[in-house]
Amino acid sequence: ISESDELRAFEATGIYRLAESGATFLDPVRILNASYRRFRLVPSAYYSRSFGTSRQGGEAETERTGEASPERKKRKRQPKPRELNEVERMAEARHQEARPLLLSAHKSLLKAKDLLEFLPRMIKEDVRVLDVESNLEKNLVELGSSWRAPFCEMTLCFQKSSGENSEEGICLKTSTPLFNSTISIEENDDAEGEFQDRHYILPRRCCFLMTDLKHVRGLIPDNYNQGYNLIVVDPPWENGCVRQKVAYPTLPNRHFLYLPVQELAHSTGALLVLWITNREKLWKFVEEELFPAWGVKDHTVFYWLKVKPDGSLIGNLDLLHHRPYECLLVGYINLDKETVRGSKFKFLEERRLEISYMIKINPQLVKELLSEYIPGPKPARCIELFARELVSGWTSWGNEPLRFQDAISPMVE
Ligand code: SAM
Repeated sequence: ISESDELRAFEATGIYRLAESGATFLDPVRILNASYRRFRLVPSAYYSRSFGTSRQGGEAETERTGEASPERKKRKRQPKPRELNEVERMAEARHQEARPLLLSAHKSLLKAKDLLEFLPRMIKEDVRVLDVESNLEKNLVELGSSWRAPFCEMTLCFQKSSGENSEEGICLKTSTPLFNSTISIEENDDAEGEFQDRHYILPRRCCFLMTDLKHVRGLIPDNYNQGYNLIVVDPPWENGCVRQKVAYPTLPNRHFLYLPVQELAHSTGALLVLWITNREKLWKFVEEELFPAWGVKDHTVFYWLKVKPDGSLIGNLDLLHHRPYECLLVGYINLDKETVRGSKFKFLEERRLEISYMIKINPQLVKELLSEYIPGPKPARCIELFARELVSGWTSWGNEPLRFQDAISPMVE
């Protein structure tokens, strides 16, 4: 396949395979647009979450990378080189293990000239500022935990054609409790939700539950055959970054031990994908306590290397506390290897890598990348825990799964 064929495939799917290194470059906007029928994500608005000048842009930058703003950087003096402590040495050893893979993937991206020329055009110059400065999202989190929550209702609007020859649709309205209650869009068409004069886009066949962790057991299906084959978890880890605390509330590690992932898994097994920061103590907690408690086995690592629109890394690869990559730990729950032998299912063993803009990787991207490793019947049943947006065909749970579904912001037009 020539380079330009690969670019054409990328334009259609949002996935560009860098054959030389086995890494993949992903465009979340193209992949996510498959979620919508009547609506489109606006690339410039979506990417402003990463590259914009708004608080949102700053948030996306600091939330994951812990990177300081240029002004703060100027004020900071360069620390003198010092000996690493034991934990830092362990983190460095982990980094050195990943380094050759990361470097070869980045090298192959820099060689994909057609893709690099195409990327800046994808993020238009007129990056628009998202309307997220209001305290709306915070209010949803606060409102959901207040005495008023049981009284909040969302009005759902389903578009129906008004006649055979008519382009115009009519809106069929129905009301449903907003918090602590599962909302499913069974239709194969996007719906709209209205709450407190705000409109939200609800992609076709999405399902969400907006609750606090205290009520997470409301997600557990009645029987294991209705469980999930792909479980993506992006926990609000504590990391001491003040800006992150402004972005969303965090939780102490021990709280995640209570997530009922075993009960959410399908009887034929589930692939579990966990976002994890580069903190060594967190890795220890996950590998020694969390995964054993959740019953996750045979886990491997995926790396997400973050680049700027020109393809350069968002930071120095070897900077100890600010790595330009994140990790996903991927493992199996309830998997009976005997039953899956001979089926089309592939067992995930190798470390893998993908590259994307420094915007977060959306759960649907994870599904696209890992589809052949997901056990159980097809189409796979998928759930994201601690979600902030909705995806067609997925169940999304958290205390703000509507956060990026606001139709007033230019994200969806
Ligand atoms: N996957 C999301 C994304 O990339 O947009 C990011 C999720 S963020 C790391 C963690 C989420 O957990 C935030 O939306 C936060 O509000 C939510 N959260 C924090 N405490 C929670 C709680 N007690 N119950 C439910 N969700 C909570």
